[in-house]
Amino acid sequence: MIEPETHCPVNEQQIELNEERKDFVLPPWRVLQILTTALDTLVEEDFLSNDFDYMEMIRRRGIRLKPYSAFSLEHLKKLRKMSLSFWKEGLCLAVTDEKQGQCRMIAYNDKVSDEIKLAIIMHEFGHIVLKHTQQCEQGEAEALCFATVMMTALSFKPSLSAGNESGKTGGRDFLQGILISYIRNKQREVKIKKNEA
Ligand SMILES: [Zn+2]
Repeated sequence: MIEPETHCPVNEQQIELNEERKDFVLPPWRVLQILTTALDTLVEEDFLSNDFDYMEMIRRRGIRLKPYSAFSLEHLKKLRKMSLSFWKEGLCLAVTDEKQGQCRMIAYNDKVSDEIKLAIIMHEFGHIVLKHTQQCEQGEAEALCFATVMMTALSFKPSLSAGNESGKTGGRDFLQGILISYIRNKQREVKIKKNEA
């Protein structure tokens, strides 16, 4: 059985306060650090390969991934109080597992679209990768930044894969694409200038 443990016990009062929390702005150097960490995480996992699966990436790191539907409402309420994350859509916990001993668990709302699910899981994964140990404004801003980078990189995957593929053919297709868009932009510029004249 999984018995959740928490690095930083959170009481009801704190949870209520969290509802009115202020926005936290990350300094640019920290954003860059998170950007690098997130991209390194994806590159380590060869995310451009066809069989890349972000859930598998997370599981391979010894992190348990559980949908909310696997828990009763009562159990979820208990877990929420121990979560590292402020967000109600996902939970990030330290748990004790019979086989693995101490490990991390991410629980996520599974009654949402695939895109939202990805955002929730990446946010919680961010708390773990960035080694957060307690709930705080900065932690939330960092997890949000991490999730944004991960999602952006994954959304670019088709173009990046195309670039990768064209590399194999000496970049001809890729260059052709760039040339065509260059010519079209030039044509548009000429048209605008004509209209202005
Ligand atoms: Zn969070």
